[in-house]
Amino acid sequence: MVRTSLFLAAAVVLTTVPATAQTSGLQDPLLDRLIGDWVLEGTIAGEHTTHDVVFEWVLEHQFSWLRREAPGFRVYFVPGSYALAHQDSLLARLPAALTNARRLIDAPDLAGPVDVFFIENRAQMKALTGMSATGFAEASSRTVLLVTHSEWRSFERHEIMHVVAGQTWGPPGPDTAWLQEGLAQAADGRCAGYPNADMMMALAERNGWIPLGVMLTQFRQQPDLRAYLQAAVFVDYLLERYGLEPLRDFWRSGASPESRINGRTLAAIERDWKGQLRAGPVDPISLASVESRGCG
Ligand SMILES: [Zn+2]
Repeated sequence: MVRTSLFLAAAVVLTTVPATAQTSGLQDPLLDRLIGDWVLEGTIAGEHTTHDVVFEWVLEHQFSWLRREAPGFRVYFVPGSYALAHQDSLLARLPAALTNARRLIDAPDLAGPVDVFFIENRAQMKALTGMSATGFAEASSRTVLLVTHSEWRSFERHEIMHVVAGQTWGPPGPDTAWLQEGLAQAADGRCAGYPNADMMMALAERNGWIPLGVMLTQFRQQPDLRAYLQAAVFVDYLLERYGLEPLRDFWRSGASPESRINGRTLAAIERDWKGQLRAGPVDPISLASVESRGCG
């Protein structure tokens, strides 16, 4: 249906171009699903499309994409979508998100561009990844999928952080979900316009804290909003206080409350962290909105 509307609206003149050059080296199964065998190029809405706008077929023609580029990125939009209508501002945010993620863990340049796909809703996410989420990252193939629409901001800083961390530190070990998501949420930095720490404290006041041992080893079983924020603020503290080295070790081998940094257990470090936390006020209406629909 998307395809038909594009054809009607844009009077596309098409020539087929073999896409070997586009997909060579991208042998990953996810990208195999996302990027089809061939590319159509031509004239869209009266403008001749060259290499920066490419029309691609994917998923056995269920999805089609308009492609643009930004420094460090290949970016794909669904024709007719909210994201396409806001493509320039979305595109402009990506290099800044990459710089931010690299700065957080002092990461070198990535080996190649990040493929970012903007989609409309969770149903499309489910069709593409099998998961009903609003963001998705596969670090090994440098692929990010982001849901955005008029009511939901895209979490590019979060998902790009997953890619940068995975590309820089390699595949994460067991019991590292707290660190993966903590870094990503720390890179995003905010929740409903508030600093992570402010929203975390407001939520902890109402619902209590997630115990450290549970957070470190059963992260995915926890209420995700509170778990993400608590991990983010704790990871920020570890980074600021102890630097990158211990976090890189935890990335590889996981952590428990008995794990140590400079001889001090994480359980003791967590007490230090809680002792110095200061948070600003959070408006009750914002808090209620975050509790019902998350940080978007
Ligand atoms: Zn994440």
